[in-house]
Amino acid sequence: MTDTAPLSPSVIAAVRANLADVHAKIARAAKDADRNPADVNLIAVSKVQPADRILAALHAGHRVYGENRVQEAEGRWPAHREQYTDLQLHLIGPLQTNKARSAIQLFDVIHTLDRPRLAATLARLFDEMGRQLPCFIEINTGSEPQKAGVLPEDADAFIKACREDYQLPIVGLMCIPPAEDVPAPHFAFLADIAKRNGLERLSMGMSADYAQAVALGATEVRVGSAIFGDRVYS
Ligand SMILES: *Cc1c(COP(=O)(O)O)cnc(C)c1O
Repeated sequence: MTDTAPLSPSVIAAVRANLADVHAKIARAAKDADRNPADVNLIAVSKVQPADRILAALHAGHRVYGENRVQEAEGRWPAHREQYTDLQLHLIGPLQTNKARSAIQLFDVIHTLDRPRLAATLARLFDEMGRQLPCFIEINTGSEPQKAGVLPEDADAFIKACREDYQLPIVGLMCIPPAEDVPAPHFAFLADIAKRNGLERLSMGMSADYAQAVALGATEVRVGSAIFGDRVYS
């Protein structure tokens, strides 16, 4: 469907109800942990979702979205940006250096800084483009060989290098726990690494576990299917 097709009332109602439900669960988890719910930023992960569900979320007033592919985001978000000037777009997927320039143009926050070469590229482009994006460093908390992210034992040195050598605006850490693991220990581990490095923000928690992530200090939760429904792969 195109962005101008009429929105079905049932899609609008479903996405609105899901957003309200996720906000309520975040608020409860935050209060139970003696945290302020306003300190948790809900990133609606819109990757692979049909256009009408995203329009429904925009209609419901939601303005913070996450995408994991630069190219997909480029096809979708510039048009919405014209209409909604207060949009905030987060890149939550792996970033290739040859896509970094496009990513900096489109996104407001990068969650997946994970290697020196990307740090060097971002530093150079931020300078050249006169635009500095807050960055999260992705930590591979499960040390999974196939997964992106800095290994835990390399985290302190990489964080230091990003700050001192590359002068990047590092705001926090991000993780995606192994699918087969209980997530809470990974969230606690990420929070430890952040704390000893003086980093305040934690990007952790997805549809299945965002309440636990909030209990353990998440400041950004990345929630897709619990807001939009199952992703539709064509
Ligand atoms: C897809 C994705 C999410 C959202 O996943 P859901 O289970 O649909 O909430 C969160 N974080 C990252 C990095 C993702 O790629």
